[in-house]
Amino acid sequence: MQWLINGQYLDVEAGAFRRGNITVDGGKIVKLGANGAPAKGDQVIDLKGAWLVPGLIDCHVHLTLPTDNCDYGNRTDAEVTLYAAKAVERTLLCGITTVRDVGGWNYVEMAIRAAVERGDYIGPRMVLAGRILSITTSGMDLYPGMYEIADGPDAVRAAARKQLAHGADLIKVMATGAVLSPESEDPRSIQYSLEELKAAVEIGEDNFKHVAAHAHACRGISNAVAAGCSSIEHGTYADEAALREMAAKGVFLVPTQCTLDGMLNDKAAMATMPPHQVDRMIESSKISAEMIRRAYELGVPIAMGTDAGTPGNHHGDNWQELIVMVRDGGLTPIDSIRAATVNAAKLIRRGDKLGQIKEGYFADIVAYARNPLDDIKAVSEVGFVMKNGEVYKNNFAG
Ligand SMILES: [Zn+2]
Repeated sequence: MQWLINGQYLDVEAGAFRRGNITVDGGKIVKLGANGAPAKGDQVIDLKGAWLVPGLIDCHVHLTLPTDNCDYGNRTDAEVTLYAAKAVERTLLCGITTVRDVGGWNYVEMAIRAAVERGDYIGPRMVLAGRILSITTSGMDLYPGMYEIADGPDAVRAAARKQLAHGADLIKVMATGAVLSPESEDPRSIQYSLEELKAAVEIGEDNFKHVAAHAHACRGISNAVAAGCSSIEHGTYADEAALREMAAKGVFLVPTQCTLDGMLNDKAAMATMPPHQVDRMIESSKISAEMIRRAYELGVPIAMGTDAGTPGNHHGDNWQELIVMVRDGGLTPIDSIRAATVNAAKLIRRGDKLGQIKEGYFADIVAYARNPLDDIKAVSEVGFVMKNGEVYKNNFAG
């Protein structure tokens, strides 16, 4: 049994911190507000002055993409694996106890997940998509290990089944073009058709898996919503009607708004990008800030995702999206934290075990020395990380 004492923990649904001891056993939260005294052999963790929140969940990462340059093609799988094994450690230590990777590299992330689960490496819980399903496009040239080309509904079904066979927990599809793609691919173009998207959702849902749709262009967003996708990644050009559809159907928006900050804060990484990609990032970020504000007003469920892996958007800086959602999207600090906890847990369909500090839930807890509801920037100062009852970082000790 473990006792977390003297801290305040966030009741994320109520939006309030509460005082009380937390007991943990077998990786699960046993009791909130536990009275009595620790028994002999119990581990007591004194978190005096700490503000405890549920372990954060990042719903959009690419653990296998290096953030210091964008030349992805010239890497062996061994190099990718070594890089990603460090990326998962940095991600966990910054307070992210669960990630959803929405585009891996030749399935090396599956091996890393197995190694983390065995305890050989340090990392978060990993919800993985395997390769991204895409139409034939020049994007494949930039990301050869990340794309699974499949044209037509039957090919999409086969490609989705292939990801599941590799151990995927969700299916990721390209409903529109991408911002960080070759110049010949327009992010506002429609890629998968409604029929193809429906085929992906059919295979996903038949196997109890959700589908995440990369979509910038408005019609691509509408197609993904109509097809039954569970989340819209980016969502840049969503108009009023598309956002209302998302709100009505409970389709999550994963805004990935911190990509621009990441790029601008790392000039060396930015210098490796083709100029057209830099221009697109700056333009789309402005538009998407307005879109997030409108989505929030309309009650579209928002789940936190960083797109960590894009140039300058480092694994281990994932908390920055919580700050950016407040600054650019107008979210309150509690709603920003909800996006990264309860909402994210619901999107990955683990809302009954993750995303809250609650009895019966996994003991995934992070803590800060300042109250993040007073100032969301407190999430950048990670003082304590527990995953599954195991302490990976503790600045409050002693
Ligand atoms: Zn992405």
